[in-house]
Amino acid sequence: MSSTQEIIKTTEKYGAHNYHPLPVVLSKGKGIWLTDPEGKRYMDFLSAYSAVNQGHLHPRIISALKDQCKRLTLTSRAFHNDLLGIFLKELCEYTGYEMALPMNTGAEAVETAMKMARRWGVEKKGIKDGQQEIIVCAENFHGRTITIISFSTDPDARINYGPYAPGFIIIPYNDPEALRKAITPNTCAFLVEPIQGEAGVNVPDAGYLKAVRQICTKNNVLMIADEIQTGFCRTGKKFACDHENVKPDVMTLGKALGGGVFPVSAVVAQRKVMDVFTPGTHGSTFGGNPLACAVAREALRVLDDEKLADNAERLGIIFREKMKKIRCPRMQLVRGKGLLNAVVFDKNFQAWDVCVALKDHGLLAKQTHGNIIRFAPPLIITERQLNQAVSIIKTVFQKIK
Ligand SMILES: *Cc1c(COP(=O)(O)O)cnc(C)c1O
Repeated sequence: MSSTQEIIKTTEKYGAHNYHPLPVVLSKGKGIWLTDPEGKRYMDFLSAYSAVNQGHLHPRIISALKDQCKRLTLTSRAFHNDLLGIFLKELCEYTGYEMALPMNTGAEAVETAMKMARRWGVEKKGIKDGQQEIIVCAENFHGRTITIISFSTDPDARINYGPYAPGFIIIPYNDPEALRKAITPNTCAFLVEPIQGEAGVNVPDAGYLKAVRQICTKNNVLMIADEIQTGFCRTGKKFACDHENVKPDVMTLGKALGGGVFPVSAVVAQRKVMDVFTPGTHGSTFGGNPLACAVAREALRVLDDEKLADNAERLGIIFREKMKKIRCPRMQLVRGKGLLNAVVFDKNFQAWDVCVALKDHGLLAKQTHGNIIRFAPPLIITERQLNQAVSIIKTVFQKIK
């Protein structure tokens, strides 16, 4: 087997440089653990951006994958497959919605939700086609398609990709008044992350989502919550909106829906919204394939059976408490919900070096925005393992100058 250095060299030579990964190669995973080619073990505190909530190689999810591989993997939607209906039924029961539309990646789910909202705007709200407006938030992250980056405020994500898609209005996050003011008769939807993950685990004030819900209802605007990163127990509840008992009109789902093995995404909504889709108006070759359905069904069951929301809630409180006690003058803030947490350092801080040091000590985490480090282990983590992680973080943080 090749060494870490050789593998990185090959990857850098032949792969487009659209990422800047930590200098670590992973060749095995199990639960919260990852192993490099030299046999060194690491705790995973990124969880593939929350796509591995159930832990690496969860035995039940892997066995669902293997069993389905022996039966049927892909049919396209030209025909029915025997798992799609039952998967969508279980997803609707899990989320509390009437209908679901399966896709593959998160960005596709967001595109789907926006297409649905624009169509709903014309067919149900009476907006003239071409005039629909969708309101979004500054510092959002919703994916990488041309349309989605058109309303990004991150220059790296956006620059030199024009012409940009029109029809989006950007307002500050965590500001209900700005939403109220931005709504026009042409507004069909407000797209919002209940916690902004990529922005550095930006948790809005208590009451924000409730206020958004009220404003959307009052103005007949669809509230679309992007729960791709925050959903499926990550924040200590099934969905981050549950913390305020808020039910969006539409949710976009992905990441952990695929149980860490397979890309599965979906949009859920009530029938009166979802019924704007008619045959031929939207689709995906791989969306809803039987292999994805088998994996996602098991991924949902594991979340419930292993009470991962409760574990995330309980350990999240312990994690933040212990992190706040670490003596590190350049650390300004510990924030988060459940097991989606971040440490914010002062503005000029280079968190990259800290992530490299954490890696050398056996813990993998990644910085966002230069001065913020996200800590998001698989939700199956135990209290003992969490304490072990905190002592690694403490060792590294105490040496920071
Ligand atoms: C990751 C993410 C997406 C995009 O998902 P992909 O599968 O990478 O396309 C969209 N929205 C949020 C909030 C995300 O965290």
